[in-house]
Amino acid sequence: MIDLRSDTVTKPTPGMMAAMMAAPVGDDVFGEDPTVNALEQRTAAMFGCEAGLFVPSGTMANQIAVRVHCRPQDEILLETNSHICLWEAGGAAALSGVTLRTIDSATGDGRLGASDFTDKVRPDDMHSVRTRLVCLEVTHNRGGGTVTAPGAINDISRWARQHKLATHLDGARIWNAIVKTGVPAKVWGGMFDTINVCFSKGLGTPVGSMLLGPRDLIAHSRRIRKLFGGAMRQIGFLAAACDYALDHNIDRLAEDHANARIIADAVAEVPGFTLKPHEVETNLVWFEVDAQHGTAKDVAERLKVSGVLVAPLGTRVIRAVTHLDVTRAQCVTAADAIRRLAR
Ligand SMILES: *Cc1c(COP(=O)(O)O)cnc(C)c1O
Repeated sequence: MIDLRSDTVTKPTPGMMAAMMAAPVGDDVFGEDPTVNALEQRTAAMFGCEAGLFVPSGTMANQIAVRVHCRPQDEILLETNSHICLWEAGGAAALSGVTLRTIDSATGDGRLGASDFTDKVRPDDMHSVRTRLVCLEVTHNRGGGTVTAPGAINDISRWARQHKLATHLDGARIWNAIVKTGVPAKVWGGMFDTINVCFSKGLGTPVGSMLLGPRDLIAHSRRIRKLFGGAMRQIGFLAAACDYALDHNIDRLAEDHANARIIADAVAEVPGFTLKPHEVETNLVWFEVDAQHGTAKDVAERLKVSGVLVAPLGTRVIRAVTHLDVTRAQCVTAADAIRRLAR
């Protein structure tokens, strides 16, 4: 099976496994796991942040960020189809008593600009929630793996600072954006108060995300991680996989991006399939199927028969994702299977 459902399906390579098994470990709840401590420092330094907190998932990193920046009755400004809004099980409401004010991306690909935030701060009035936090997502998952330009992000961050709002980047796939644009990690890190980065997507580790930010916020985040049940013990074994991934798996993301374009070109050739967005920038290929092909599930079933797995994520919406565990040749094979769906 050529599994294009997600870049989370990767399995650790022998090299990564060897690094994991060789890791010195200790009790991380005591702050005594040297491999975790080193990874937190290394990742924070990469992004020009003071401190990092290793957590089990990107969802937990985002939800800790929500909790550390906000109090109950606060409101977050974020894009309508953001991961925090769509795919975190209502965490902001359930865990932090926070409401979400969604903003539609005018371009339909997850991108926002500073003008989208005009008049979005609630009045200082007892009837209102307190506008508190701006969350952005790069690359934007549901938006199609798109990268909001650093210039636009800078404008949004400046606007947020003027209004005394905190800023958080859901950078689960920031590595893809770094490779795509050549804009270094430090620049992305410099534009936000906190950032979530994930090792278990394109970087191919079995587990692991990190929340990055100023020392005081990360110290507070450590307490919230404990509250959310995310404090773990000898997790240097997991951190070692992440350390290995930073050494070996960032630059190669360019291959995933090239492979995604092979898939996208095939999709574009099938009458009744429409790439959304039209241009595939990184490793996510989202497309819609029209009624002549049946539903997204029908199309996914047909591809499965040809040995290709894709994710039907809506009645008419399909996502195909390239990653470390699919080769160029497999993507060419998958592209051929997609082309054969033309009728
Ligand atoms: C995958 C993802 C996350 C976090 O996912 P987990 O499965 O909780 O690790 C967060 N944000 C975005 C944009 C994602 O794609």
